[in-house]
Amino acid sequence: MSFAHLEDIHCHSGLSSCSNDPAMTPQLMLEHAEKHEYRMFCLTDHLWDAAVPGSSDWYAPQDIDHVMQSRPLPQGRVPFFFGCETELPANGIPALARDHFDLFDFVVIPPNHMHMDGLVRPAGIDTPQKMARLIEDRLENLLMQDLPFEKIGIAHLNCNLMFKEGAAMDVIAAMDESRMLRIFEGYAKAGAGIELNAFDYRTLDDRPEDTLRIFRIAKAAGSRFYCASDGHFPPDLDRVPNILPRVIDLLGLTEDDRYAIPGFAG
Ligand SMILES: [Zn+2]
Ligand SMILES: [Zn+2]
Repeated sequence: MSFAHLEDIHCHSGLSSCSNDPAMTPQLMLEHAEKHEYRMFCLTDHLWDAAVPGSSDWYAPQDIDHVMQSRPLPQGRVPFFFGCETELPANGIPALARDHFDLFDFVVIPPNHMHMDGLVRPAGIDTPQKMARLIEDRLENLLMQDLPFEKIGIAHLNCNLMFKEGAAMDVIAAMDESRMLRIFEGYAKAGAGIELNAFDYRTLDDRPEDTLRIFRIAKAAGSRFYCASDGHFPPDLDRVPNILPRVIDLLGLTEDDRYAIPGFAG
């Protein structure tokens, strides 16, 4: 393995509606992180800030007061950060008000929650090529905004939810290499992290080149990477140590390629 110690900085507790599992607690996460000698951990429940208009019925209860119920976080041998996974709706404006980024150590931004028709996915995006262009546009547009990119992670670029009527890997295969290289260079320069999400590599054996493609482009652009379980239930936590070391090896990532949350002392 090319990373001395792993981490998990995108993980949901039972407070996220798609988990709702009382066993998925920060204490359990800390124990897992200590057992596997992670260098850091971050809790990132789903969030739609009530200060941002346009939330859905699903998101509305998951506001800042809701995710704050996890605080104070348990303390132990692994630094435990407080973050969130906000939304990037169809208008391209994050569902966390700019003034409220200060409340979080780390903010995960998903560019491709395309299972949310209307809220995120506009009508008329009916081919992998159109979806690839849309995701490129969204990433480019996000980068032009005034945001604290050094505490932002770009989530699950291979997300299998991004083209439900087809294969997510067809969207990845359709992405424009030179444009994505420029986009990733922008994120690298701004200090953002690129996520290695343990759910993103299910096609690694069937379509290895497509599965790794976007991450190889990111690496060529000088991106910094981080590990994520995107866990919602206790067994998901094991996906970081079980799956990501192989991905890290295949991508040839080293300590020099790693993202760290601001304030992480290493
Ligand atoms: Zn997500
Ligand atoms: Zn998530």
